Amino acid sequence: MAKVSLLPRGFKSKAEKTAIALRTELGLLASDPLCGFKLAEHLNVKVFTPLEIFPAETNIEDLVGSDKGWSALTMKTGSDATIIIHNHLHAPARQQSNLMHEMAHIICCHKQPERHKGINLPFIMREFDPQQEQEANYLGSALQITRDGLLWALKKRMEVAEIAEHYNASPAMVTLRINTTAVKKQLGYMGY
Ligand SMILES: [Zn+2]
Repeated sequence: MAKVSLLPRGFKSKAEKTAIALRTELGLLASDPLCGFKLAEHLNVKVFTPLEIFPAETNIEDLVGSDKGWSALTMKTGSDATIIIHNHLHAPARQQSNLMHEMAHIICCHKQPERHKGINLPFIMREFDPQQEQEANYLGSALQITRDGLLWALKKRMEVAEIAEHYNASPAMVTLRINTTAVKKQLGYMGY
């Protein structure tokens, strides 16, 4: 079922450029994997686990057990620093996409709900804004696997599983990127 796109015109190509520009700043090629934790450091965003943030009496397993849907959230601290709290119990590839998604929100300067301010919060979710979520999904996935990097891998005839391993992404993410970037069509024109 196709979802209606709420992405502004030009958002996708801008996101692809951003993903490459950030790699360039870190001395990486478009085809290089980019670690979400490294990108966070580069953007001056500290990443925490709930264990480091919530009071000891909080039952963390209840909140973020690996079977729970909660992924990550971005918030401002009292001193106005931007931090990400992420579910460290998710698989490594999922943690990467969770972090990239949150950093996409930060890069896009999406507004934080007022109640995210301050550290004394109950366990909460970002207030759901469909357009912001679509933007973060697209940019987040581009940060993890650039379109040029995807072309590079497909020209080398790498399988989805190999591409996933190279970018520390899930195979589902690779397939999503292949579908949303229309790279196969471009490769067809190029005679691959
Ligand atoms: Zn989000």
